[in-house]
Amino acid sequence: SEEKSLNFIEEIVENDLNSGKYETLVTRFPPEPNGYLHIGHAKAICLNFGLTQKYGGYTNLRFDDTNPVTEKTEYVNSQQEDIKWLGFSWKNELFASDYFDELYSFAVKLIEKGLAYVDESSAEEIANLKGTPTEPGKDSPHRNRSVEENLDIFTRMKNGEFADGAYILRAKIDMASPNMLMRDPIIYRIKHAEHHRTGNKWCIYPMYDFAHGQSDSIENITHSICTLEYVSHRELYDWFIEKLEIFPSKQYEFARLNLTSTVMSKRKLLQLVNENLVSGWDDPRMPTISGLRRRGFTPKSVREFCERIGIAKRENLIELSLLEFCIREDLNKTANRVMAVLDPIKLVITNYEKGSEDLIGENNPEAEDGGGTRIIPFSNELWIEREDFMEVPAKKWFRLAPGAMVRLKFAYIVKCEDFVKDENGNVTEIHCTYIPESKSGNDTSGINVKGTIHWVSAAHAKTAEIRLYDRLFTSETPDAEEGDFKDYLNPESLTVLPNAYIEPALADADLDGRYQFIRKGYYCLDRDSTPEKLVFNRTVTLKDTFKK
Ligand code: ATP
Ligand code: MG
Ligand code: MG
Repeated sequence: SEEKSLNFIEEIVENDLNSGKYETLVTRFPPEPNGYLHIGHAKAICLNFGLTQKYGGYTNLRFDDTNPVTEKTEYVNSQQEDIKWLGFSWKNELFASDYFDELYSFAVKLIEKGLAYVDESSAEEIANLKGTPTEPGKDSPHRNRSVEENLDIFTRMKNGEFADGAYILRAKIDMASPNMLMRDPIIYRIKHAEHHRTGNKWCIYPMYDFAHGQSDSIENITHSICTLEYVSHRELYDWFIEKLEIFPSKQYEFARLNLTSTVMSKRKLLQLVNENLVSGWDDPRMPTISGLRRRGFTPKSVREFCERIGIAKRENLIELSLLEFCIREDLNKTANRVMAVLDPIKLVITNYEKGSEDLIGENNPEAEDGGGTRIIPFSNELWIEREDFMEVPAKKWFRLAPGAMVRLKFAYIVKCEDFVKDENGNVTEIHCTYIPESKSGNDTSGINVKGTIHWVSAAHAKTAEIRLYDRLFTSETPDAEEGDFKDYLNPESLTVLPNAYIEPALADADLDGRYQFIRKGYYCLDRDSTPEKLVFNRTVTLKDTFKK
């Protein structure tokens, strides 16, 4: 296989393993269980798990659940399911909340070292003393209270003696640091809230910066990989580890995935769900992993996408069409070709007297073994696409028109003899004759036609609802637009075709099946399907239809 150059994180890991700095590579994927995972998370999952697949060692799944208000067990479960679906398995399943006792003792240790203090200043007072990036801050009047007093108040904070916001615990670092995050950051706050795992045991909770690095350290994570927003947090990450004298995990930052025509923050996706602007977290238009799964994406296509976009040190914007390219590539090799008529019009074959016959169709000419075959019933009344007939044909029109001939896929050549219109002038029926000697695979007619169209036998067809999806937003960068990102939702992101006809073989479709509806795109069964009413989602069109 082709030699691929290493990304910058792989280079760091190789150096660290070669130099003997670490014997075993340990990474983690640390989602906060405050929503469903999205395609951006998939990039971080592929990176963290991919490293240990390549270099040995292992990857932990750690739920970063230190904010009781937004976290739920439903999210924990969905996040586990999505990682497994992507094809990865974690070594240890851990929760930052399991470290609350240890994190509390880390805080006590800092107080004892004179490196943390409790502060009853209001949020406004704290902000006023913080300074600006170009001006140093000023010390809080409470900065120099004794270790004993700090310990006493911190214990009472933990024991629930104070209301939310009455006190905070701050690290005592440097109010003049050029890095604003080093200006005595808050490390614990009082929050009387029930936690999804620890219940009401705690009423003080550690801040992200005091939980994340220490959790990494507790787990002996060697390479703690996060996105670029955390570059300025690294100094603090290292400071805590140094002062607490614990395992020196190291933080490395890469550019997050940004994708056109969507938003990718759990907070914003939650708004779409809560305001019923989509049908749920797994709405097939959502950039969530569950949405992509329901839309018909395969794990392989998502992993391939993550591989292709690579790991960079600078922010960039990836075209949604690249994601679609990846699923098209995969489905082209694996999806069975079937026939479905989305916008039906009747075609009657006036000289077909057999009633019906069974034809044989190859499932997938792209598959190495042809994908097997199936039976396709044919009869004298068919459904075809309305758009495959033109009463007055355009130039270079190779499909049906009065007097024109076309091949019916897997079947015969037919010639349009006549058509019927209703009182509004709409064509309702097309009348054809067929050429018995032109049967596919056994054509002795000597007639050459340029067009081939798909069809289903009216007597044998099943009806189905077809859901077509387009981009969720009309703006390529809804996050960057003026006003609310929701103002840029695409009102035409979902089109429902309630009365499509599909070949009877599709009655057996299951949720894992992937199909190419010939000439129409790739489709999969939706979980809304019932035996009475099949529902299919369009995963992606056959060609890139995006305007550039
Ligand atoms: P969001 O705001 O979407 O919830 P987050 O970073 O707050 O994102 P976490 O659950 O904390 O969500 O993220 C878990 C991991 O996934 C983190 O290591 C984070 O860096 C990574 N991650 C999140 N979004 C992206 C993205 N768009 N591209 C790459 N990695 C991401
Ligand atoms: Mg986060
Ligand atoms: Mg977030």
